[in-house]
Amino acid sequence: MIYRFALLIIAAAVLISGCAKASTEPLAPAGHEAVVVAGAQDIVPDPAKKVYLTFDDGPNSYFTKLILDILKQSGVKATFVVIGSNIEKNPEVFKRILDEGHSVVNHTFCHDYKKLYESPEAFLSDLDRCDKIITAFGGKAVKIYRAPGGSSRLNQDFYEFICSSGYKTLDWNVSSADSDPKGIGKEQLVSNVKNGVINMEKMEKAPIILMHDGTEIYLGLENPGEAVENYIRSRESDVAALPEIIDFLKSRGYTFAGVDEHTPPAW
Ligand SMILES: [Zn+2]
Repeated sequence: MIYRFALLIIAAAVLISGCAKASTEPLAPAGHEAVVVAGAQDIVPDPAKKVYLTFDDGPNSYFTKLILDILKQSGVKATFVVIGSNIEKNPEVFKRILDEGHSVVNHTFCHDYKKLYESPEAFLSDLDRCDKIITAFGGKAVKIYRAPGGSSRLNQDFYEFICSSGYKTLDWNVSSADSDPKGIGKEQLVSNVKNGVINMEKMEKAPIILMHDGTEIYLGLENPGEAVENYIRSRESDVAALPEIIDFLKSRGYTFAGVDEHTPPAW
């Protein structure tokens, strides 16, 4: 179970060069008075300029809480793309997600590619099972889902069958590449997100950022193996990178929105 998640490869970030970092330093041209450039905390968010932070595969008993703490301290809303079986394992964490006003998106009950992609009926039945868990544990019925691995895994039959059942697909257009099986460091993760966001600005699209709070894993193993170690390192990087990512988005005037039926398609 752990290895399957640890070995997931989702789309790599589209990297572009020349990332422009918003300056918070006062500019003092020679012979002129200093011009103070506003810091992220001074920028007034533009309600029309929305960004969607999305965290996949939880809720889990450790990293999800750390992410919730950062979101709370920063005063921003995000979206948790939840697995039904993880809600059953961590109902109190799921309740905290709801209580703190974040959005929830259905990410299937089992997240098991072999079962899900067996047939459109199998996929839909698993989505419905997650939807029931979400409502049973206090959430609203969610007719928005993200396919494990992304919608590129769904062929036309799957896609049409799921759509005709009333579900709307949520993809992403900015990947942190935090599901790299080799693991990812904080700096690379931040850089991937910044570059992806700038790329979406050029395309005039609302960034939908893919990160992972991650599935439930046991952190106490003495020798967890390389795959699990890499998985944990990536989750630590997600947590370490998040404050910088939030500051970057604030400095560019974004409003942090939760995914809902009005969220534009990623592509
Ligand atoms: Zn997933």
